[in-house]
Amino acid sequence: MDYLPIFLQVRSARVVVVGGGRIAARKVDLLLRAGARVTVVAPRLNEDLRSRATDGELTLLAESFIPTHLDGATLAVAATALRDVNTAVSEAARERGVPVNVVDDASLSTFIFPAIIDRSPIVVAVGSAGQAPVLARWVRERIEAILPAGLGELARFMGERRRDVQRLLGTSARRAFWERIVRGRTATQLLANDPPAAQRAFEAELLVSQLTSSAATGGSALGEVYLIGAGPGDPDLLTLRALQLLQQADVVLYDRLVPAAVLERARREARRIFVGKVHGGGEAHTPQEDIHELMIRLAREGLKVARLKGGDPFIFGRGGEEVEALARHGIPYLVVPGITAALGAAAGAGIPLTHRGLAQSVTFVTGHIAADDSLDWGMLARPHQTVVFYMGVGKLAFIAARLRAAGAPDTLPAALVERATLPEQRVLRGTLARIADLGNRAGFLPPALLIVGEVVGSCPAAAVAETAADLIQPI
Ligand code: SAH
Repeated sequence: MDYLPIFLQVRSARVVVVGGGRIAARKVDLLLRAGARVTVVAPRLNEDLRSRATDGELTLLAESFIPTHLDGATLAVAATALRDVNTAVSEAARERGVPVNVVDDASLSTFIFPAIIDRSPIVVAVGSAGQAPVLARWVRERIEAILPAGLGELARFMGERRRDVQRLLGTSARRAFWERIVRGRTATQLLANDPPAAQRAFEAELLVSQLTSSAATGGSALGEVYLIGAGPGDPDLLTLRALQLLQQADVVLYDRLVPAAVLERARREARRIFVGKVHGGGEAHTPQEDIHELMIRLAREGLKVARLKGGDPFIFGRGGEEVEALARHGIPYLVVPGITAALGAAAGAGIPLTHRGLAQSVTFVTGHIAADDSLDWGMLARPHQTVVFYMGVGKLAFIAARLRAAGAPDTLPAALVERATLPEQRVLRGTLARIADLGNRAGFLPPALLIVGEVVGSCPAAAVAETAADLIQPI
């Protein structure tokens, strides 16, 4: 290790920044955020620094650098474009025993600024000993993506309750308690922006800890369920929150639409349970009630249960029923939205679902309909809109006939998108009159969507050719 990583208290300490340009301004900003008393030494200032000086946020010495500027300084930063000046600052600082950073010059520096992720009071710092700052920033970005935005709030929440917990729990129970707070329901509810639910979970956890002498037993006694939208298939289309919760779950219940690449993002030790339609087709589902029962039982065992569903849980995903069942049994849950198949297909096929002058609205419809369906076909057949049918591949002829009977023109553009956003994605474009025939002949199978509307004709064929695999039929 070439440098010692430490967090330095600079609140109200005198820090001298030499330089008045953009880079100096960035360092000044950081130092002010940490509460330092900043003095800027520069004959000329950029606008940002000038307005800060006018506002009294910093002390300005509008003159050339001389060594005595560093008297009484806790830190010094040289951020000028002039090597002579930077060297002079470095030497003067060393003589006085003041740690100094010269921007972009590790050889003149005695400390360096790390790349940081600021979720105060949680701060992550990444350094490369000045050898590869770009790589350090890259590492920071990777870490940033997995850290929840509300981490700081969680830290504050815990900080505010530290004393109470100290009073109520013994030393050994305390550590286990905080472990459970961080890994359990309190944290997930707070990170999902529900402070009252987090407070309730916290109180319940505290009560359990006070009552059980065996509070040092690792896992939380209080389980919960995460209803997570897995998106249309491409694992990169998972949300950050979905990823974070998949990393926490003890057990994952997943549907057939959830691809292996998405499941792989779950914690390695997590148990994976398939609860979808049996592979190889057929109508044999795990009955919905069984799924409810399983979720409830696992949560009651104190497990964190990720219920992973294709697309969005609340779009033709029976998420509503699952949430009702969980609420009825008092199981805490949270819902993480996902990119629904229609949005994935639209992006994958280059079809804008709304378009000025072509479609002012978009409707998602289930194609899983019986002959005596209650859909308002007259409304769906009207112009200037886009209609997306989910679960409709087996009913293409029926859907097209209904729309045409309700007044939609035979020439209305329509598209089928199969396995949208996955490497095997196929896109087929046609007209309402021909789409069923084309789709059947090309062997389109679920999961696929039917998109009907003038927007299908609007998309440049080139865009489709780039994104779709092998099958493009001109209208
Ligand atoms: N909750 C899901 C939809 C579940 S219904 C969502 O929000 O996307 C299942 C139907 O979704 C399938 O029959 C198909 O019509 C559609 N679907 C799901 N994933 C798809 C994909 N990758 N490509 C095309 N259609 C898809």
